[in-house]
Amino acid sequence: MARTALVTGGSRGIGAAISKALKAEGYNVAATYAGNDEAAASFSAETGIKTYKWNVADYDESAAGIAKVEAELGPIDIVVANAGITRDAPFHKMTPEQWHQVVDTNLTGVFNTVHPVWPGMRERKFGRVIVISSVNGQKGQFAQVNYAATKAGDIGIVRSLAQEGARAGITANAVCPGYIATEMVMAVPEKVRESIISMIPAGRLGEPEEIARCVVFLAADDAQFINGSTISANGAQFFA
Ligand code: NDP
Repeated sequence: MARTALVTGGSRGIGAAISKALKAEGYNVAATYAGNDEAAASFSAETGIKTYKWNVADYDESAAGIAKVEAELGPIDIVVANAGITRDAPFHKMTPEQWHQVVDTNLTGVFNTVHPVWPGMRERKFGRVIVISSVNGQKGQFAQVNYAATKAGDIGIVRSLAQEGARAGITANAVCPGYIATEMVMAVPEKVRESIISMIPAGRLGEPEEIARCVVFLAADDAQFINGSTISANGAQFFA
């Protein structure tokens, strides 16, 4: 029987490409989103992938949503914690609200997504946890103290989960995208985007499908020994 994969934020951007790529590999896929019903409906109509709405920042909503997915599609063997937001501001102007929104979604959201599926993975002796981090979690970024902290935290999460899950057949890995052409990046002013592209040796933004490629690789049954790792996909954007 096909394994079931859950992709948070799986209806748009990088997550949508991940959902489609996993479906193309034969997995049952559930894609979640936060509130953009229109985007989710057109994604579902286009792909035939079921979408579910909950806020990853809320533990009870996440646990209830995950229980519903498992009742409808079967036990979740692959979880891709992809949902994320930015609330950029230079540190001296960053508000506690901007800090908490990003931490609650990008970091606590990963806990809320993985924690409810973890016991089942341990029982079944199989699991794939894949967290979408960022190049900015690896190198830091001006005006992203909140975001960079959460994305660096993702790496700490997978390195720790990898050690806890290794003997139970569970792997946990992070994918660190560079700048990818999604709404998140296209919302940045054009001048800033041009200066970002000038720093990427590849001379272009990445495509969501190039991140999905990494996820498909890590999700495979025979990727068992790839555990606690971080895969960078950033067009050779090196950092110290
Ligand atoms: P988008 O803004 O294009 O899509 C974000 C997705 O996450 C949407 O489906 C959105 O739902 C969902 N989402 C946001 N907040 C929540 C929440 N609280 N609960 C549930 N779902 C939520 O983002 P990207 O595709 O650009 O980014 C995806 C991931 O990749 C993020 O973690 C991001 O940090 C990371 N990343 C992105 C890079 C880039 O260049 N784009 C670079 C490096 C990392 P809805 O449609 O309802 O709003």
